[in-house]
Amino acid sequence: MKGIAIVGGGISGLSAAFALEEQRRAGVPLQYVLFESAPRLGGVLVTDRVDGCLVEGGADSFLTEKPWAADLCRQIGLGDQLIGSNDAARKTYILLKGKLVAIPDGLMFMVPTRSLHILFSPLFSFSTKLRIAREWFQPRNSPADESVASFVERHYGAEMVDRLADPLLAGIYGGDASSLSVRAVLPRFVEMERTHGSLRRAMVAGCEKIRQSSPAPPLFTSLKNGMQEMVDAIVARLDPSALCLNTAVQDIQSEADGWNVSAGGQSAFYDAVILALPAGAAAKLLRTSHSELASELRGIPYSSSVTVALGYERKVRQSLPPGFGFLVPRCEGKRVLAATFVHNKFRHRAPEDRALIRCFLGGSRDESILQLPDDEILRIVREELRQTLGLVAEPLFTRIFRWKGAMAQYNVGHLERLERVERLRQQIPGLALTGNGYRGIGVPDCIRSGEEAAEQMLAKVGLSAVIARLL
Ligand SMILES: Cc1cc2nc3c(=O)[nH]c(=O)nc-3n(C[C@H](O)[C@H](O)[C@H](O)COP(=O)(O)OP(=O)(O)OC[C@H]3O[C@@H](n4cnc5c(N)ncnc54)[C@H](O)[C@@H]3O)c2cc1C
Repeated sequence: MKGIAIVGGGISGLSAAFALEEQRRAGVPLQYVLFESAPRLGGVLVTDRVDGCLVEGGADSFLTEKPWAADLCRQIGLGDQLIGSNDAARKTYILLKGKLVAIPDGLMFMVPTRSLHILFSPLFSFSTKLRIAREWFQPRNSPADESVASFVERHYGAEMVDRLADPLLAGIYGGDASSLSVRAVLPRFVEMERTHGSLRRAMVAGCEKIRQSSPAPPLFTSLKNGMQEMVDAIVARLDPSALCLNTAVQDIQSEADGWNVSAGGQSAFYDAVILALPAGAAAKLLRTSHSELASELRGIPYSSSVTVALGYERKVRQSLPPGFGFLVPRCEGKRVLAATFVHNKFRHRAPEDRALIRCFLGGSRDESILQLPDDEILRIVREELRQTLGLVAEPLFTRIFRWKGAMAQYNVGHLERLERVERLRQQIPGLALTGNGYRGIGVPDCIRSGEEAAEQMLAKVGLSAVIARLL
């Protein structure tokens, strides 16, 4: 019987555990143990119910176009619980000189596809509008890695970076457009530049194809009862005796044919180890036995974030602008990076007589927010909502979630670092790395990487042949 240890019980570790459990149930002779330092599983996926509202502490949904999360939900019996975002109400605002300005229709991420909407939008100055028009003639190009800011500036100018690219990336990655790698974060745009030169020309060609196919699916998918539902359904399918909560792994040491894993004051031998941790935490465990790999992993930075949910009565819901929420460019000098009007983004999140707003703070430029006490964070959020939305009403409830070092930053050179990490990892038998530090921070990417880690380790311990026989 082969034994595999999984360290970390976020969605990456849980996906790896579920993949192993499926094999075990099919008759593959293996045992696994999942170690989680916290008293609960799920990592940054956590859902609270307050006053009839469904409050997400971390991720609230996943991108529909990445299939791995929805596929897993179907496998664990949640296919009928999947819901799409309410895209008919999709409108996002940018705070510009203290006022909310709608991102014009016809912008896909930051690539304009319909000129007229852009032409009349107050979001961009006349000179940026000219740049946008000229971008059509951008020559094909395939440069070395560069920051998202530099890539976007080459195509549309600095204003597009400040007003759109940077706030979007701060909202998604808690990151900084001048540090994040365009190859790691926006690989599709790099490919579009390589094949078409102009992103707009590439997008128009792509849109043509999409128009000829079926109607567009919703941009985001979630679960009726929140993201925690996915965690609970996976956990319900795992072997309860394999789950070690409140058990931080302190050390792992490779031996001739496996690993000695020390956790909770005890050590045990496993044939393989899957580290489903933030890269820095994985580096800590590898620092003595594999220092070169540990040092590469330490080089992947993480940012922290705070989410604040505020519930209000019906009057507030009626007074808010329509749409999904707003983003705040750095030059506005605020600490709230983005806010979601949750009651508009998804049905089933708030009753008709409630408004639910979720604000994001922190990111790579404001780590210090994490040190503030709850009442100070709330004071800042309420003051900035007053300035931005004129919202002075007393919230019916508030919830604050702190996520220290939870968001990987794929800075320039990230993909080259991953190549070095992979080369070093392959020299170490029976070690897999999964988590949001490597090839995608979104929930679907983490699920895919967890499943791949499980497959890699099954092959490593010689069980892929057994699986093939069973199939
Ligand atoms: C505020 C926020 C909002 C987000 N929104 C979205 C979104 O809407 N859509 C989307 O797709 N993605 C979103 N993401 C990203 C996505 O949720 C995460 O990238 C993903 O859930 C990370 O999962 P993970 O398992 O890799 O890591 P984590 O969830 O961080 O799990 C790692 C686990 O390892 C445990 N651990 C650490 N050290 C040890 C140790 N030594 N021993 C044992 N256990 C240990 C930790 O306690 C933790 O439970 C968001 C992230 C955040 C923080």
